[in-house]
Order: sequence, then structure tokens, then C-alpha cells
Amino acid sequence: MFEGMTIAGYVIGAKKGLVYLRGEYRYLLEPLNAALEKRRAAKLLGRSILGRTGFDFDIEIHLGAGAYVCGEETALLESLEGKRGVPRKRPPFPVTSGYLGQPTAVNNVETLASATLIAAKGADWYKAIGTSKSAGTKILSVSGDCERPGIYEYPYGVHVSQVLADCGARDTQACQIAGASGMCVAPNEFGRRIAFEDIPTGGSFMIFNNSRDMFEVARNFAHFFVDESCGFCTPCRVGTTLLANAMDKIHEGHGGEFDIGDIWRVIKTLKTASHCGLGQTAGNCVADTLQKFRPSYELRLTVRDFEPAFDLDKALSKMREVTGRDDPGAHFHIAHRKNKAGIGTKAGDPA
Ligand code: SF4
Repeated sequence: MFEGMTIAGYVIGAKKGLVYLRGEYRYLLEPLNAALEKRRAAKLLGRSILGRTGFDFDIEIHLGAGAYVCGEETALLESLEGKRGVPRKRPPFPVTSGYLGQPTAVNNVETLASATLIAAKGADWYKAIGTSKSAGTKILSVSGDCERPGIYEYPYGVHVSQVLADCGARDTQACQIAGASGMCVAPNEFGRRIAFEDIPTGGSFMIFNNSRDMFEVARNFAHFFVDESCGFCTPCRVGTTLLANAMDKIHEGHGGEFDIGDIWRVIKTLKTASHCGLGQTAGNCVADTLQKFRPSYELRLTVRDFEPAFDLDKALSKMREVTGRDDPGAHFHIAHRKNKAGIGTKAGDPA
């Protein structure tokens, strides 16, 4: 990666490269700095690299605090500048106005590492690996229900079933590919391929076997996005919470078809109105599991029409305890029924 950054610096005429290291990977800071020192000693970084006058380039490592949204390039730039990780409006794009207003090329680790191989071995060598539309290899981080989780590297175009066989996955019910915002793939799709033209991924490959409850998997992802939304735009800030609330409502046995319709409406708003990719993709897992693992939702749809998620009578139980009242008038639903029947309520009635 450092070599790729140096090549990129030479090509675009940059003097400085920055590595953004997520806080979770703090343990890598010393080894990375040691590698940079070695490169400086070998004249592969610094002034006049390899004796070439004017080829000045060095690399610094910056630590982030671990926000998911900082994978978005402009939020990453904000964070690098010491500000809150909030995606910028575009244009201007980072290549014209990026870090501290300077032209900035933002690339991921894998791209820069591949650039080194392409420079050393040539584009034809690289293009011979993978598919016609997705050249090269893809590194997958395989986790979940399998015997051999870990880091795997494949030529682009590898079938999902091949990855599952290699890592010793059995009774696989689903793969979540490309992380929480990616695609949930069912067994009838295991013949699909990891490639830009089929299933694109940054590298995450999570496996769920038949013992997993896909509704709960999706509910967990819905809550993840509530935590990770940066809060800048309303569709995502509010939409992720509405989605998680709807999933909780179903989980607690108050859900019906009305709530499924509500979920689709929220997902559409997230997709079409969110400011950045995080919000636009935050509903993907719920949408996929609703389409592909519908029985896990059906099991929980106990309500025919609509039932409020908030149980007022239950919420009042503490006050009934405090006041020592447990007569019918102290219960919301009884008073509510009286009202519906047209019977007046007296002052002080909790209805
Ligand atoms: S979509 Fe979500 S993460 Fe992106 S800017 Fe809006 S609130 Fe922030």
C-alpha cells in the first residue's frame, strides 16, 4: 500500500500521503510507522526519492475514532481535518477540493496495493486475472458460521458457493455480502459471483447457518444504522430510527401487515432522500430479508390490522403502583372502551 501511495504521489504530483487508520486498528500504528521509517531509510520516502530531483513524497498516519460513516470519502476528509465525520456536499469533489481544500485522491488500501502490482507487472498481467468487467483479485474477510473464518483472496468472478466450500461453511441459510449495507444472499443465489457486474463488495462476507433467525439478523443491522447515522440529514437520522422501531414492534408481537407497509415506505425514503450512501443503503438488509426470508417475519405478524407499538396501560403501571390504584378506571383500555361506547368520563379519569 505504501508503495502504491508513493507511485500515486509521483503520478499526480502530490507531496503528501495520509493513511486514515480507524481507532479499532490502533494496534497497527507502531508496525506501520516502523515500515515507514524503513522506507525513509531506503530513500523510498522523503526528498528526492531514489535520487530523482523533485520527487518528494512522504506519508503520515492519522487515527480516526472508528465511525462507520468515515468510510465515505468526504466524511473521512472532515475527520482527517479534525472535525466531526459528516459527509460533504458534492461538488466540489475531493479531486478538486479535498483535504484542507487541496486536490486529493482518496482510495482504499486494496486499490493502492493493486496499483503497486500493476506498476510492477503491467496492466495486461492484471487484466488476465478476474472477469472482463472486474479485473484482478478481491480480498474477502470471511466470518460467521464456518470452520475456517479469515482473510481469503480470490480472482474476481468467484462463485459464492466456492467461498462457502473453501471456508468450511455448512447448512448455510444466508450470506451477507458487502457488510451491513450490502446484499443478503439466499441459497438459490449461491451460484452468483463476486464481481462488479454481479455482487460487488468491499470485502465483507458474513455467513449465517440454519440456526440463525434472519429477522433478528436484520433487526440487529437496523439498530447498527441508528448508532452509525451521523445525524446530518433528516431522512437518515429519523428513517433509521423509524426502521429500527418498526422491527422492534414486530419483535415484541405488535406487528401486522400495516407495519410491513410502513417498513417499505421508510426504506424508500432512506434510499431516495438520504444525503450519503450510508442512509441510502441502511434499509438494504431489511428489504432483502423481507423478500428472501419472509417466513421469519410472518412468524411474528400477530396483528391483523394496526396496533400501536406503545402500550399506554403498561406504561401507567408504575403510577398505579405509586397511587395504590388498580380499579378499572385506572386502566387505559377500560376507560377507552367506555369512551367508545359514548359513556362520559368523570374528572380525574385517566382516559
Ligand atoms: S445519510 Fe446518514 S450518514 Fe449520510 S449524511 Fe445523512 S445522516 Fe449522515
